[in-house]
Amino acid sequence: MKDIIFDFEYFVPKTIEEALKLLSQYDEGECKVIAGGQSLIILMKQRLLMPKYLIDIKGISDLDYIKLDDKQGLKIGALATHRSIEKSPIIQNGFSVLAEMEQNISSVETRNWGTIGGNVSHGDPGGDPVPVLIALDGKLKMTSLSGERTVDAEDFTLDYFETALRHDELLAEIQIPSIPPSTGVKFTKYSQIVGDYATASVAVLITLDKKEICDNVRIALGSVAVAPMRAKKAEEILKGKKISDDLLAEAGRIASEEASPTTDAEVSEEYKRDLVKVLVKRVGSEALARAKKA
Ligand SMILES: Cc1cc2nc3c(=O)[nH]c(=O)nc-3n(C[C@H](O)[C@H](O)[C@H](O)COP(=O)(O)OP(=O)(O)OC[C@H]3O[C@@H](n4cnc5c(N)ncnc54)[C@H](O)[C@@H]3O)c2cc1C
Repeated sequence: MKDIIFDFEYFVPKTIEEALKLLSQYDEGECKVIAGGQSLIILMKQRLLMPKYLIDIKGISDLDYIKLDDKQGLKIGALATHRSIEKSPIIQNGFSVLAEMEQNISSVETRNWGTIGGNVSHGDPGGDPVPVLIALDGKLKMTSLSGERTVDAEDFTLDYFETALRHDELLAEIQIPSIPPSTGVKFTKYSQIVGDYATASVAVLITLDKKEICDNVRIALGSVAVAPMRAKKAEEILKGKKISDDLLAEAGRIASEEASPTTDAEVSEEYKRDLVKVLVKRVGSEALARAKKA
């Protein structure tokens, strides 16, 4: 019988430093980090990736946490699983949009194994977490033997399955600032099957001032370009104004022009643009309602 998977050398470092030393020893292409394995193993079984060395970081407890700092906001270790984020009281209470997003990622089995760091590092333009992190103005902290650096979530994914991570770096932490008062955030993905990857997804954050004028807005789109993206021109339509249904419809129209989707096996480019138009209006309206109640 044909082997399901090829031979590789398997390392199980116990600390971040041990993992980084291993990573620095091998060339790009011959070595991969594995966390929950939910994306990587599929690629290995299909032999789209055939690393000679596999560095299993799942046991590094220093990368598995969810904590709230009064000054610095929410910090999520890269190894926090989707399920632990979905169930975390800190997140349910203060950042409920993250818990809502996690509930619709695949099945409980995948969410129990898959990590947020693995999802983000995989660089899939259709992944659910990154648009939400962009709307929340999140940052991603990476670490290597030469130090740490931080990148805005909107600059992290560069192209299809390509990210800002260097070969010798680990994604260590996701940082999200505290959510200001009078702010509403909402994420919705449209997929053909519930829990499946998004055909298109939209995350919107709206902050209102005391007169219910839009003080800040961030609109992020997923699955409609080579990487999750911000719809900055659509944001400009709403900023500094009293948001109405007509303005939201206009923002949706502009966002659908900013997106650059391609036709795939399931739907056409035009269909995805229409989805963006509808979702930005709908999700924007829900974010607005939340901001008014917050
Ligand atoms: C059936 C199924 C359905 C799914 N549906 C969805 C969905 O609807 N929405 C969605 O967003 N996702 C979906 N996913 C993807 C899932 O969320 C990811 O597979 C999972 O989060 C990846 O995490 P992991 O820990 O398993 O990563 P792994 O598979 O272990 O790694 C993925 C990639 O990230 C790298 N990596 C992992 N951790 C780090 C780190 N800390 N630093 C640097 N590099 C790292 C690995 O080298 C690899 O390249 C689905 C997956 C499956 C199997």
